Amino acid sequence: MSCTLSPFNREVVAVLREQGVLCDYQARGRNGQIVVACSDGDQMKDLLLHKWEQAIRRGKKFRPHMLCFHGGAMNIDVHCKLYPGLGQIVLDHIRQAEGPNLKGITSVNLSIHTPCGAAELNEMTLIHQMWHQYRASLLVAQIDLTNTIIPTLHVDYGEDDTELVLRANSLPYKDSATAIQRLADETGVKVLIPIPETHRRRTYLVNLNRFIEFWKTSGNALWGHLFEIDPLTL
Ligand SMILES: [Zn+2]
Repeated sequence: MSCTLSPFNREVVAVLREQGVLCDYQARGRNGQIVVACSDGDQMKDLLLHKWEQAIRRGKKFRPHMLCFHGGAMNIDVHCKLYPGLGQIVLDHIRQAEGPNLKGITSVNLSIHTPCGAAELNEMTLIHQMWHQYRASLLVAQIDLTNTIIPTLHVDYGEDDTELVLRANSLPYKDSATAIQRLADETGVKVLIPIPETHRRRTYLVNLNRFIEFWKTSGNALWGHLFEIDPLTL
């Protein structure tokens, strides 16, 4: 199933950006990240590439330990109806990956994305997804008080970045990409120069504390009608 960013979810992203709930993503984590993400293969390349770029920029290790399921981190929340019982299994996987006998990774990236087919099939808006992500973060925090939780939201805006299209089609770009790939091949550097994707996509860091503050001050008045029970009281 392919889906596009709905006008409502686009509005939610815009409001949460303005409110400081969605911030620019910067690499975090000392020794890699356990990544709980949606399996969506159309977004995977961008998800990894963005993390890779940010890791290089911040001198961090790029070591994504991937746990992927339809709907991503939402599944950890016991109130998430996608795959009942999966949450406990994911928590077990995280616990194992954090342990010194397996990977010893102390940072957990709880990733959700929009548009997400799993969310849409279950008539969830981005706000529903964020509440599942929030409650997932509380459960992951209980595994180990010292772990770092990195909640992220990946957005596929579903529209071409016209500036990027122009650059990707330009001769200087094609010439330099070919030259760099040739140099890498000749010197044995294992790298594939990325083929530009012109869809505008972004990964944001979600400030969940800010999300809760925002919900109390104005979020509930705006979007509380989407819920039978105020999600803050669940
Ligand atoms: Zn998805």
